[in-house]
Amino acid sequence: MADAVRREAGGDLQKRAQVQEQARLRPQERARPQPQQRSCNRGPVQERNRRRVIFHSDMNAFYASAEQAERPELRGVPLVVGGHEERRHGIVLAKSAQAKAAGIVTGEALWSAREKCPGLVVVPPRYDVYQKYSRLARRIYYQYTDLVEPFGLDEAWLDLTGALALSSRSALDVAREISQRVKDELGCTVSIGVSWNKIFAKFGSDYEKPDAITAVTPENYRGLVWPAPADELLYVGGATCAKLHSSGIDTVGDLACASPELLRRRLGKVGGILRTFARGEDATPVKPYDAARNEVDRTVKSFGNGLTAPHDIACEADARALVWLLAESVAQRLREARFRARTVSIGVRDAADLSSYGRQVTLPRATNVTGHIARAAWNLLVANEPLDETRPLRGLHVRASGLVPVDAPEQLELPFDARRRVLEDLDEAVDELRRRFGNTCIQRGTELLDESLLELDVKRDNVVHPVGYF
Ligand SMILES: [Mg+2]
Repeated sequence: MADAVRREAGGDLQKRAQVQEQARLRPQERARPQPQQRSCNRGPVQERNRRRVIFHSDMNAFYASAEQAERPELRGVPLVVGGHEERRHGIVLAKSAQAKAAGIVTGEALWSAREKCPGLVVVPPRYDVYQKYSRLARRIYYQYTDLVEPFGLDEAWLDLTGALALSSRSALDVAREISQRVKDELGCTVSIGVSWNKIFAKFGSDYEKPDAITAVTPENYRGLVWPAPADELLYVGGATCAKLHSSGIDTVGDLACASPELLRRRLGKVGGILRTFARGEDATPVKPYDAARNEVDRTVKSFGNGLTAPHDIACEADARALVWLLAESVAQRLREARFRARTVSIGVRDAADLSSYGRQVTLPRATNVTGHIARAAWNLLVANEPLDETRPLRGLHVRASGLVPVDAPEQLELPFDARRRVLEDLDEAVDELRRRFGNTCIQRGTELLDESLLELDVKRDNVVHPVGYF
């Protein structure tokens, strides 16, 4: 999964390969004095920032690798993870290296994938298995630092600054060891980016895959990151990219060197933020993993789903569609795991400055009814957001916590909630249809309002971050 579609920077493959080779071979020489840049006026804060050691680790072809790790008979076989049993409408969610070699791409219809590769094995997604592998990988990361911030199921940032300060080992040495251990202990490969900030570390893990380590250092980032198309930088989406392009800004380097005034005019406050990202000045910390809020052990504490919207959400209809889409997947996972939730929370990311906040509500009764969870999330959202042009949103997250097993004894109240029974039956019927005909076979009317959301199931492996996005 998440095989980023790479566009080669200017097609200059050879130069890129050389820089890449240097990036891989040269250990981080953080102590070496940096040549002063004309355009960069760095204060003590930036100097301290540059001494950080941040990894971004990304498990390659995650769903497919986890399936192959779990079932030895599938190793080395062209394999795709695809939407449920219904073959005619199913799509490729993830592909193994062998399937990729046959030209199969994520999002492709299963029938078309089969045409390209006659012996193709198709397996349905098993999110509990992916959760397990995600947890196992984090368990390894934790042996190197307690600062681990997951980004989706298969990616995480690690802050090794403190750990390495007390050790004689180099960052690349530790990256190699982590990579090897994931391979030996989980049977999956990772790509690791090593840098002094989260944005460049993420860029590094995307730069070469699978099974690669790329260091983005103060010495090489201008040769490595700056020639890349601007949208290879985290948070530069399609719409932003188009706006940048119309101002003659095409590469990360263009963005780094653009005038702050121009960027502010074109993109508002976020323009300034993206410029600092491009210059390697992102100083956001790796947030320590909050075990109380996430499932670090076998016990699942909550189910959440969030996503960065394909475009800014600036009207009620779009917001409603997004809330339903997320609430539906959260409720569906609750039902699959046979839980009800007592607490519903939302996380909201503002489009203007990418800031985020959360709100939560405790329900009178635990529920796993899609409509109940969606309505609770919706009420939280409208109580806090105007949902119009004045404050567009970039991302939204819905989480259900305070879990109670479905078969736990429950105090029934009078009068009996007959409507809840009806809604539970309805959800059960929808779940069954989806099991048989695929996730997109039946959709809420609200989701249909926004056509770009219709494709989200296709892209779920790239845009939906089930854990800890906010
Ligand atoms: Mg991945």
